[in-house]
Amino acid sequence: MVTRRDFTAGLAAGAAATTLPLPSQAARYRGPNVVLIRFGGGVRRYETIDEDGTYAPYTRKVLAKRGVLIPNMRIDKLEGGNTSHAEGTLNLLTGRYNAYRDAGSKFLQDRLEPTEPTLFEYLRHSYDIPSHEALLINGEDRPQEEFFTYGIHGHYGIDFRSEMLSLHRFKLYKFARHLEEGGLAEDARLAAEQQLSELLAKDAREIAPEQSDPIQRFWAKWREHYGDDGFRNPRGDRLLTELALWAIRDLKPRLMMVNYQDPDYVHWGNASHYTRAIAIIDDGIRQVVEALDRDEHYRNNTVIVITPDCGRDANPLMSVPFQHHFNSGESRAVWALVLGRGVRQDRVFDREVDQTAIAATLAEVMGLRAERSEGDVLSGVFT
Ligand SMILES: [Zn+2]
Repeated sequence: MVTRRDFTAGLAAGAAATTLPLPSQAARYRGPNVVLIRFGGGVRRYETIDEDGTYAPYTRKVLAKRGVLIPNMRIDKLEGGNTSHAEGTLNLLTGRYNAYRDAGSKFLQDRLEPTEPTLFEYLRHSYDIPSHEALLINGEDRPQEEFFTYGIHGHYGIDFRSEMLSLHRFKLYKFARHLEEGGLAEDARLAAEQQLSELLAKDAREIAPEQSDPIQRFWAKWREHYGDDGFRNPRGDRLLTELALWAIRDLKPRLMMVNYQDPDYVHWGNASHYTRAIAIIDDGIRQVVEALDRDEHYRNNTVIVITPDCGRDANPLMSVPFQHHFNSGESRAVWALVLGRGVRQDRVFDREVDQTAIAATLAEVMGLRAERSEGDVLSGVFT
């Protein structure tokens, strides 16, 4: 029996062989820029892209007119697959399923690292792009997602890593500066040392690269603006929006992924936390898109993809509703909105599409040979 994976793998291999030229090593990249927005923390179609049910009116009613809405994207039901946030994110970044492993850590239970190249690595492997122009923006309470900046695949890996903006990374910067600047009382110095070593211990990999100079300058500016105490900067997904806006202004990433996550608080709270979080992401998307539209570097030279990491169960009879870990049909039901340079406008893509198509399609957009991706290239969304 030919499975979907075999089938799409064959397609991707065929496409790579026939239509994608290998860009010359270290060529200059001219675009389009890509902004991949994870409408994350697991969302259902009903509260996001259903016209009646949506809590994301900007995304559904304004932005969808500028692109192609793919309402029927699925996460394949795979043996051993888990429908969750880190897993879905790595499906999006590698164009494969189960392309991760738990590397084990004393400090974290579910630390996943990619075992196949990510889009960031493909991009930096093909083009001369500094690490800060391949950028991940992560939430503060998902340190298990701090490990997506590079995978362990032999031909790629750390030399082609992305940089990451997150509160975790800011704290790494901040405590290192505190110690460097000196002048701390003995107990404050010990506390800063303690904090820094705890933060460093969260990445148990043998080589944990320093944040690059442009990223350190970014944090210096951030610290000057928001101070050290952590009380003045926005929190939760609003923080991710703020980091994305600063990145657009100051770092000009060629590929940026924003990992929104707060709808996931529904695990612990009630449904209103979930719907409010969707509205906050929607407003963040509006701010990010408006910033891209205003900016010379991005205007008319950017492709934007908005897509969830995973869905959520819809069964109201379950004792704990809104879960997503059980590989159910609803937790595998996602969607995508694609817009920007070369993308059709005001269309709905009526075929069922697989989640792995995102990486394959973005690789095609950026002229990369994502040879390990198993997804289909969605050529139908382009003009
Ligand atoms: Zn969750």
